[in-house]
Parts: sequence; C-alpha cells; structure tokens
Amino acid sequence: MRPLTAIAFDADDTLWQNERFFQDSQRRFISMLEPFADADKVEAELLGAERRNIGFYGFGVKGFTLSMLETATMLCGDDLPPAVVRDILGLGKAMLDHPVELLPGVVETLQALRDHYTLLVVTKGDLFDQERKLVQSGLADYFDHVEIVSDKTPDVYRRVFDRHGQGPARGMMIGNSLKSDVLPALEAGCWAVHVPHDLTWALEHADEPAGHTRYRVVSNLSAIPAEIAELQPD
Ligand SMILES: [Mg+2]
Repeated sequence: MRPLTAIAFDADDTLWQNERFFQDSQRRFISMLEPFADADKVEAELLGAERRNIGFYGFGVKGFTLSMLETATMLCGDDLPPAVVRDILGLGKAMLDHPVELLPGVVETLQALRDHYTLLVVTKGDLFDQERKLVQSGLADYFDHVEIVSDKTPDVYRRVFDRHGQGPARGMMIGNSLKSDVLPALEAGCWAVHVPHDLTWALEHADEPAGHTRYRVVSNLSAIPAEIAELQPD
C-alpha cells in the first residue's frame, strides 16, 4: 500500500512570495510614523496589535491593515494626521493587488505529483485575497481542492484529509511554517514537510519537532517528489 494518497500545500511563502510584501509595507509604515515614534517602538506596537487582533480579524492583509491603523492611533493619539490614515489604507490596498510571484520549483513539482496524488491547498488568510492569488498564480488547475481556513489546527488537518484523501495517516502537509503547517499536521497524524523560507512572520516561529518519523525538511519544493518516493509506511 502506498503511504500517501493526498498531498496538501500551504500557499503563502510555500507556493508564492507573501511575507516580503508584509515586510515592505511594515517598513513604509514605520517611516510614516517617524515623526511620532522610533522604529523599534512602532515595530513592537504593531506586532502587539497583530497578536491581539488575530482573534478578531483572523490572518491576512485586512487584519494587518487594521492593526497598522490601531498602532497609528495608539502612537499618535489625536495628532494622527488624516494623510497617514489615507496612506495606511493605501498600503493595505496595494498588498491586495500585488502581482503573484511563484517560488522556485513549484510548477515542476506539481506537474510531477498531479497524476499520482490528490493535490490540495490549505491556506489561511483573507478568502477574497487567497482566491485572487490562486487564480493569478496559474496554479489552480493543478489542485483537486482548495481549503481556505481561519486557522490551521490538528482538527482542521484531520477534517481536510478525511474529506479529500484517505485520512490524515495517508496525507502529507507541506509548508514554510513550523507552527501552522508542520506541528499541527504531525499532531493530526499526517506526514509533514517543512520548506523553510528566509522571511517568516514573527508570530509563525516555533521549534522544530525532534526525531519525528513523519517529519522531513527540504530546502526547495523540487526535492519533494524524491522525498516522497523514499517514504516507507511506518
Ligand atoms: Mg505560509
């Protein structure tokens, strides 16, 4: 029996660039607030706002934009210039409109796997934005199903692989985030592959799982088909 029937990919910073756009916007936001607070203070306040606001807005650009606005109101008080509000909204809209830039090895990997496995996307973020990026990426036809979820928990992975594969034990999750893609997928009983990206959001950091038989690390998606070929049922 083949160990795998369904393979799921994270999208942001696994299939295409994402964090780069957040960090660019953050740099511009910091310079907008330069007259009011130094860079370290703005960065710390923004991260605090993002952390507090996940429970209200979820993950994605819209929540990030609201967190920038909240940070600006906290740091500037009643002196917040309307022009800064307008510029923050502009930063958010520009992020929702940025061109999709695929990461290396994505297309060849999906081509190699598509005839042999059920291929899925499991991603967090704004529904509308993730749908837009999937269409613009040109990758939509490679996937059998796309799941845009509000968070990535072991239960979510169990449900996804029960629905679209033959359960988590015969599923694999591939992504750049140890916290969202790897650890909860392993806990659900899946295989999990970490594809590190050099930019990772501070709130996605986690320690590597130690000595887990279903955990793999690759430096590039192109290495995935060879990794899968070597898997043995455990
Ligand atoms: Mg990601």
